[in-house]
Amino acid sequence: MLLKQADIALYKAKDAGRNAVRFFDNAMQTALDQRASLEASLRHALSRDEFLLYVQPQVDSARQVIGAECLLRWQPVGRAMVAPDDFIPLAEQSGLILPIGLWVLDFACAQLRRWSEQRQTRELYLAINVSACQFRQPDFVTQIQAALNKHGANPRRLKLELTESLLLDEVDSVVGKMRALLDIGVRFSLDDFGTGYASLSYLKRFPFEQLKIDRSFIRNVTSDPDDAAIVHAILAMGHALRLNVVAEGVEEDAQHDFLVAHGCCLFQGYLFGRPMTFAQFELA
Ligand code: C2E
Ligand code: CA
Ligand code: CA
Repeated sequence: MLLKQADIALYKAKDAGRNAVRFFDNAMQTALDQRASLEASLRHALSRDEFLLYVQPQVDSARQVIGAECLLRWQPVGRAMVAPDDFIPLAEQSGLILPIGLWVLDFACAQLRRWSEQRQTRELYLAINVSACQFRQPDFVTQIQAALNKHGANPRRLKLELTESLLLDEVDSVVGKMRALLDIGVRFSLDDFGTGYASLSYLKRFPFEQLKIDRSFIRNVTSDPDDAAIVHAILAMGHALRLNVVAEGVEEDAQHDFLVAHGCCLFQGYLFGRPMTFAQFELA
């Protein structure tokens, strides 16, 4: 028991950047137990059909809906709904994100097919979030193609949201996969732009068609001059590089007005619609 506890404290010290001292306390053990129990239930979540895919609308400057982003939810039986930030990191560490990601992809392609059969939804695109470990799978391109084919979904309506962490990988391999998918019509959006290790040269090397300004910059865009300057700069750069730019997390009219005044044309946030079920989305 003593050695086990020492080991836990050692891991904490390593997590803190190695050159550190940590004392064991019971909270560490509790956190570890909770994690283990969460992971155990996450392992069964797919076979128990506990995942839901929500969608959040994206609108243009006339506030017309032009597409939507899929956002995953986990509803374990008899427990409260779990937000993705509370289980995606664990799913990534445990490798469970691979089957979960395939489930999301399959679900999204099925919805796209359904949308193509209705007049009001035929023109909309659907974006899904793709984890770096998913994208790194050697057969990632085939997985996307297979899901699109299985449902007869139009690849031009599918958008993949990638994060900056992926761009630190082997450039040629990432670009190769992106190009292979672009060739069949799938497009790419760079998510959470400005929060990671974004080197501006990335934008030139990778064939993105869209940038998403992270919510953390939008939150205080009307009150914090630094955030305003960053948003302004991202918009100017996006235009110069012929990328379209989406502002995420728009909650207030004043934020929307600021963004419109600075040339932003695409928006997502509670002001236009919260994440909702596909049924709710289609009724709205
Ligand atoms: P994200 O891709 O940046 O998604 C946007 C998040 O902002 C969503 O949180 C959304 O509900 C929230 N949001 C949208 N508009 C507003 C707003 O106006 N105000 C506020 N306060 N929040 C807003 P959510 O659904 O909890 O997702 C969190 C993250 O989980 C996502 O961030 C994404 O990184 C990840 N995620 C979600 N679904 C998937 C998935 O299917 N696969 C993977 N790999 N990751 C996913
Ligand atoms: Ca996203
Ligand atoms: Ca985002």
